[in-house]
Amino acid sequence: MRVLLVEDDIRVAIALETALRQHGHEITRATTASEALAAAPVDLVLLDLGLPDRDGIEVCRELRARSDVAIIAVTARAEERERVLGLRSGADDYVVKPFGMAELTARIEAVMRRTMRTAIPQPSFRVGGLEIDADARRVMVSGREVALTRKEFELLAALARRPGHAVTREQLLAEVWRTTWRGSLHTLEVHVASLRSKLQDSSYIQTVRGVGYRLRAQ
Ligand code: CA
Repeated sequence: MRVLLVEDDIRVAIALETALRQHGHEITRATTASEALAAAPVDLVLLDLGLPDRDGIEVCRELRARSDVAIIAVTARAEERERVLGLRSGADDYVVKPFGMAELTARIEAVMRRTMRTAIPQPSFRVGGLEIDADARRVMVSGREVALTRKEFELLAALARRPGHAVTREQLLAEVWRTTWRGSLHTLEVHVASLRSKLQDSSYIQTVRGVGYRLRAQ
């Protein structure tokens, strides 16, 4: 999993990074709020709330406003008010310093289980130069990994569950955005456009006029 580790205490950050790498995660580190907000999309953000340049709660809100990436807030303050604020600001869970790796790992697993509950039954799919590894949540184009947001990945995975078959827009909205509101159709179109451009070949995702989309099967 790709993890963005936002922590201004270098010693804590290095210890966490080492431990998370040992658990097989890929780590990007940020030491300030601005670095955190400028970072590439990841699967999980571990967000220290005590940052030097901005309030961590604001950073949390901003990250949440942009995407529904999994966020675990990390704080040195255990007060209940902080916890509530943290959860209202969009964090999926909370750990209080000092915490052990066993606790953090358990929280990460729980959060990812919740946020990935639409996980993909198919382990992998390949067509042309496109390769989707659903277990690792990785997408490769011509052997190079493409960084997708969580929604982009889920959209691609929803199409890859029925390669060659038209999937209706309503079904995609239901599976990826969990909504039946047709006002979200624009969001779907925007995600399809950005996926097509990231996959560098617009023929992978075909438009089925008046119906929805289809992933090329061969
Ligand atoms: Ca701090």
